[in-house]
Amino acid sequence: MNDMSLKGEILPDGISLYIHIPFCKSKCPYCDFNTYQGIESLMPPYLDALGLEIRLWGSTLGNPRVNTIFFGGGTPSYISLEHMEKALCSVAGAFEVVQDAETTIEANPGDLNGPALTRLLEVGVNRLSIGVQSLDDSLLAMLGRRHTAQEAMEGYRLARHTGFESVNLDLMYGLPHQTMAQWEYTMEKILELDPPHVSLYCLTLEEGTPMERWVRQGQLPEPDPDLAADMYTSARESLDRAGYHHYEISNWAMPGFQSRHNLAYWLNRSYLGVGPGAHSCLRGHRFWDVASPREYIRRVHGWGADDVKRVDIIDRDTLLRIGPVDGVEAVGPRLEMAETMFLGLRLLDGLSVEDFKGRFGHDPMQLYRPQIGELEGEGLLEDSDGLLRLTEKGCLLANQVFMRFLD
Ligand code: SF4
Repeated sequence: MNDMSLKGEILPDGISLYIHIPFCKSKCPYCDFNTYQGIESLMPPYLDALGLEIRLWGSTLGNPRVNTIFFGGGTPSYISLEHMEKALCSVAGAFEVVQDAETTIEANPGDLNGPALTRLLEVGVNRLSIGVQSLDDSLLAMLGRRHTAQEAMEGYRLARHTGFESVNLDLMYGLPHQTMAQWEYTMEKILELDPPHVSLYCLTLEEGTPMERWVRQGQLPEPDPDLAADMYTSARESLDRAGYHHYEISNWAMPGFQSRHNLAYWLNRSYLGVGPGAHSCLRGHRFWDVASPREYIRRVHGWGADDVKRVDIIDRDTLLRIGPVDGVEAVGPRLEMAETMFLGLRLLDGLSVEDFKGRFGHDPMQLYRPQIGELEGEGLLEDSDGLLRLTEKGCLLANQVFMRFLD
């Protein structure tokens, strides 16, 4: 059997590929992502290691099909275009990238300029996710963002003008000091821009971040959860009036502009993450790369090309032999079904009972009868036309719904 005849055997549906860029020009005080400021000198060796990891995974997995590519971070728009191009070349050489693959980069508005945007389009990036967060300069300053509201709007307009059709704008609500009037103003201005996709995130005060400490010590007021819920409801109504489809708890899109990469996560499909701290889930195994960028570079280079063997099955021992992999967790059928339930319920069109049966051979209505009964009784879940979906109230209390499937 030659190498090509095995192609795609392990992962016949292909994968989504996440590429982590752990650099930020400055660290925002609310952020607990695995990303760093002040380590720019690591960019060249990091990008070399990343290219190597991508190629080595391609060989290990038999060059499977890649349906979507997502550069997240960190701030992918902070690295040079040459580095971005090099990473994409490594992907193209290591995997079978489908012709219409959605290729997204997360971008800071301040990094967007005409020549950079044109080059990104030329190298195959076809979707931008811009971290706008707010259109109020005082809130942007509190969030430690390095752009103004004006720059965010100009960056978006420039991206559209350059030819990016698919653009997401990320916004945050539930912030200390944020009033309903500020939030409504931001939403109004965002809707005037007419973006094809909008994501709204409620601030979570993560332990260990400066912002969590400032709130705990009384230097910033604690955000009011009831006000945050009102902000979500108000935005939901505005987006609905403007014709957006609310397709996931935190995401709205015009027809044809849903994030295919994130949909793959919510549908609990296979994904490979490369770069420090990146998580993957393939064939019943969740695993992750070592978090420290320095250690990551060291381990990838230590995992030489000689160690690479094409695998026919993915198991714990094989994964732990792969240089940057730092941990592996089995995802057995029960856990996979529970995760498919609660991830699928994030999608507001609902989870298809037939699709679930087709994939696992079990009827979710039987399997989760007690949970579904309770949640329906509490008005958090509804079931109609073979679809299970969150109610409006369920959207606001989604975490409570999801926990029931993990019990
Ligand atoms: S730019 Fe994004 S990833 Fe970087 S520190 Fe700020 S929130 Fe975190």
